[in-house]
Amino acid sequence: MVTGVTGLGPVRETITGTRPGKALARRFVAGDTLDEAVAVARTLNADGFQVSLDLLGEEVHDKETALAAVDRYLECLDRIATERLDANIAVKPTHLGLAVAEELAADSIARLAIRASEVGTTVTIDMEDSRYTGGTVDMYALAQEEHGNLGLALQACMKRTPADLERLIPLGGHIRLCKGAYLEPPEVALTTKRQISIAYADQLRSLMASSGVMPAIATHDDELIELAVELAASRTGPFEFQMLYGVRPDLQRRLVAEGFPLRVYLPFGSEWYPYLTRRLAERPANTWFFVRALLGGR
Ligand SMILES: Cc1cc2nc3c(=O)[nH]c(=O)nc-3n(C[C@H](O)[C@H](O)[C@H](O)COP(=O)(O)OP(=O)(O)OC[C@H]3O[C@@H](n4cnc5c(N)ncnc54)[C@H](O)[C@@H]3O)c2cc1C
Repeated sequence: MVTGVTGLGPVRETITGTRPGKALARRFVAGDTLDEAVAVARTLNADGFQVSLDLLGEEVHDKETALAAVDRYLECLDRIATERLDANIAVKPTHLGLAVAEELAADSIARLAIRASEVGTTVTIDMEDSRYTGGTVDMYALAQEEHGNLGLALQACMKRTPADLERLIPLGGHIRLCKGAYLEPPEVALTTKRQISIAYADQLRSLMASSGVMPAIATHDDELIELAVELAASRTGPFEFQMLYGVRPDLQRRLVAEGFPLRVYLPFGSEWYPYLTRRLAERPANTWFFVRALLGGR
């Protein structure tokens, strides 16, 4: 797990400014534009997948940029409606202004939830690093109580997550359970892979045993997927798997072929560098693939 990489300007330029870097990003990102994302979403829908459209961007520190992101998401919701896509949107609180002012992000989320409800879809709020967890959970709880068509990502690695689950499950909506993609201090988070997998399994059991809330099982981990399939056999309410575009597509196809609902998290936009660094950190082999391409492909 890793968080935003700072002080690495030359590395960033090497990745964003070279063909191998752009090719690597293309594995995980639909493209720079909404048109490109819509084209990929259409194909995914035709293949039996639902989609979560994520406009890339985070750590916005001015109001204008945050409001511009809301406008682009509204455009995205219009396209979901006109193209009749089986899709919702995923948003990052700091993209919508959480680092500027909590009210700005809360207003932005409310505008998106209202429009999403008009077009018959939902809004999932991504979870960022621990500086924002408390604000994000509170903002989600208020928005979900008010609008009823939201969901929130919770990170199994965070020590506070069992308490957050207890608070949020009664609110309905959907909870996307993921392991956590940010490097966190041991004061607030579990740090070994084993501890995080055990916590994930416990939290998954709570979610799958609850009614009213829809569990979104966001992992590519075989053991946890096996557990989810086992738990699904006795679950009466809905649930879905969620996986990242470009990660284990073979597994994604297999689950859909077996009849499980699966939503692909589909990022698009030009601000892909921080997203890509998280995907590289999750699997060092991705980085070696890039370095080899860079050395051979200049
Ligand atoms: C739909 C979705 C939404 C997410 N939203 C958030 C969020 O809001 N906040 C947050 O902190 N995190 C989020 N994550 C990321 C998550 O927290 C993990 O960092 C990431 O999913 C890797 O964990 P894993 O459960 O797949 O298990 P891992 O043990 O990391 O991976 C299991 C297997 O999956 C494959 N794999 C995993 N990652 C990659 C990769 N990058 N490239 C290639 N293969 C890979 C490998 O084969 C690996 O062995 C999300 C993940 C998903 C699937």
